[in-house]
Amino acid sequence: MGMKWWGWGDERVSFSHADKPALGPFLNKHIGVDVDRVASAAPPFADLDVPAPGVPDALREALEEAVGAAQVSLDPLDRVVHARGKSLRDLVRHRRGELGRVPDVVVRPADEQQVAAVLHAALDHDAVLIPFGGGTNISGSLEAPADETRAVISLDLARLDQVLEIDERSRLARVQAGALGPALEEQLGRRGWTLGHFPDSFSHSTLGGWIATRSSGMQSDKYGDVADLTRAIRVVTPNGIVATRPVPAASTGPSVREMVLGSEGRLGVITEATVHVHRAPERREILGYLFPDWPRALEAMRELAESEATPSVTRVSDAPETQFSFATRKAPTLLDRVQSAALQTFLRRARGFDVDAMCLSFIGFEGSPRHVELQRRLVSRIVSRHGGLCVGKGPGVLYDQKKFDTPYIRDFLLDRGVLGDVSETSAPWSALPGLYDHVVAEARRAIAEQGVPGYVMCHLSHSYHAGACLYFTFAMNPEGAAGDPLDIYAAVKTAVQQAFIDAGGTLSHHHAVGTEHAEWLEQDVSPAGAAMIEALLTGVDPGGNLNPGKIVPTRARAGESA
Ligand SMILES: Cc1cc2nc3c(=O)[nH]c(=O)nc-3n(C[C@H](O)[C@H](O)[C@H](O)COP(=O)(O)OP(=O)(O)OC[C@H]3O[C@@H](n4cnc5c(N)ncnc54)[C@H](O)[C@@H]3O)c2cc1C
Repeated sequence: MGMKWWGWGDERVSFSHADKPALGPFLNKHIGVDVDRVASAAPPFADLDVPAPGVPDALREALEEAVGAAQVSLDPLDRVVHARGKSLRDLVRHRRGELGRVPDVVVRPADEQQVAAVLHAALDHDAVLIPFGGGTNISGSLEAPADETRAVISLDLARLDQVLEIDERSRLARVQAGALGPALEEQLGRRGWTLGHFPDSFSHSTLGGWIATRSSGMQSDKYGDVADLTRAIRVVTPNGIVATRPVPAASTGPSVREMVLGSEGRLGVITEATVHVHRAPERREILGYLFPDWPRALEAMRELAESEATPSVTRVSDAPETQFSFATRKAPTLLDRVQSAALQTFLRRARGFDVDAMCLSFIGFEGSPRHVELQRRLVSRIVSRHGGLCVGKGPGVLYDQKKFDTPYIRDFLLDRGVLGDVSETSAPWSALPGLYDHVVAEARRAIAEQGVPGYVMCHLSHSYHAGACLYFTFAMNPEGAAGDPLDIYAAVKTAVQQAFIDAGGTLSHHHAVGTEHAEWLEQDVSPAGAAMIEALLTGVDPGGNLNPGKIVPTRARAGESA
C-alpha cells in the first residue's frame, strides 16, 4: 500500500480522537475547533486536474532503454505522489488541487548502472532529474520550480533497498540508498545489528533521503545524527561516480562526504552508503520524568550532557506540550495516574509542583543490564538535583509505541481546518533559554497579529556536548479569518524562523533547507558561505538539471547571465 497523495502514511491508518476523551475539549479550548465536525476533507483523486505529461519521444525512449519500459511511469497518481514532500504547504495545496509542477515521468532504476543511464539521459535531453526517496521531507525539497519548462523526471530509488554487506569487525554496513527504515532495520536485525536511526518518519523515509537532508533520529544522543553515522558514500554525478572510502577519519582537504550530506539531490544521486552499525542492545528502556518547570528541566538536560551519563534519548517537553501530551492519552493509562488527584496532591504538597508548569521528559537507556542500571542511577541523581522525579516506565512505553502514529494527527487537524506545523533549530546551551523565550513570544505575537486562535509548544531533543535541538510545534485555526489560510500560516512560520536566526540558532537542525528555509541561508551561514555552497552546486551541475532551486535559488543556467 503506497503513501497517501493528500497526507501522511498508509491509506488504512488514520488518527482518531474517539478513544482520547480529553483531546476534543483541549483543542476546543485552545484553538476553537469542534473535533466532531470535518470541515475540509481531501477531494477524491478523480476530481483533480492532473496536467498531461510532457515527455519528448527521444527522452522517453532513452529512459525506457535505461530501466525498461515497465519502470517508466506516466500514471497520474504516481506523478502526483512524487510531486512534493509532506510539508504543511505541500499538503494544503495538494488537497486544494493546486498541484504545481507535477513531474512528467516517474522512473524506477534497479541498480547504480541504471541510475547513471537515467542521469545521462536527463543531461543529454536537457531534462530535470529529482531523486525521490520516501517523499517525506518537510522542507520543499522535491517540488520542481513552478515555471520549469524542461521535462521533469522523478527518480524513485525504491528498488535499491538492500543491505549489501556487513563488515562485522569494523561495525560498518554497505546499504543501498533506497532502503526504507523498516526494511533496513529488518535486514540488519536478522544478523543482530542496528543502525540506530529512528526519525519519526522512519516507516516511510529512506537512507538516501536521510543523508541528502542531514536527518536526525530519536536516539541520536547514543548513535549520532545521520551525518555521524555515514562513513562513506557513492554518488552518481554528471562527472562520474563519486566514491569515498569508509575510513574513520581523513585529512583529504574539504570533506567530499560532508559536501554530499544535505545536498538534496543537487549534486547527484546517492546510490549507496557505508554506515556505522551497532549490536542490537540487550536492554532498552525509556523512563518518564516530571520536572517542576521549563528552566529547571532545561538545566537538567544541560547537566546530563555535561555528565558521565550517556542516555540514548533525552527529551523534555515544555508545559504547553506536556499538557497536550496529557490531552492525547487514552483512558485508562499510567499517564492518567500522573494527573490523578492523589499524584497531583503529592506533586503540589510534597514537591512544590505547579501542575500547570510541570514538564514531561523521556530519557532512554540502552546496553547491558548493568550499564542500564548504572546510567539510570547517574540520571536519577541529576534529575533530583533539579527538582524532578521519575514516573516510571509507563509513559516511556506509551511514547515509544505511539511515536510513529503521531504524524497522522496533522491530517486529522487539516480535516478540521486547523493548520499545524513544526520548526526546529539548534543552539549552544548558553543561548537556549533566551532562544526559547524569544521564539515563543514571536510565534504568539504573529498568531495574535493574524487574529486567529493558536497554540505554541516545544520540546528539547537531541543533546550534544555544546548545545541541543529545540523543536517547536504551532497550530492555528484560521476559520472565519480574512485572507488565504496559507498566508496566515506563512506569517507565523516566518516569525518562528526569523526568531531562530535572531536568537543565535540555525534555520534547521535536521529538516534541511529545501525551498521552505532557503530565505534564511545567508543569515545563517553568511553571504560568503551561501555563495560557496552555490559555487559547489553550479560547479557540479552547470545546467541546473539536478533538482534545481533547492538550498540556494539557482540564479543562472550555463550561458545565461545572473
Ligand atoms: C511526520 C514527519 C516526521 C518527521 N520526522 C523527522 C525526524 O524525526 N527526523 C528527521 O530528520 N526528519 C524528519 N522528518 C523529515 C523527513 O522525514 C526527512 O527529511 C527525511 O530524511 C527525508 O527522507 P526521504 O527518504 O523521505 O527523502 P525525500 O523526501 O524523498 O527527499 C528529500 C530530499 O533528498 C533528496 N534525495 C532523496 N533520496 C536521494 C538520493 N538517493 N540521492 C540524492 N538525493 C536524494 C531529494 O531529492 C530531496 O531533495 C519528518 C517528516 C514528517 C512528514
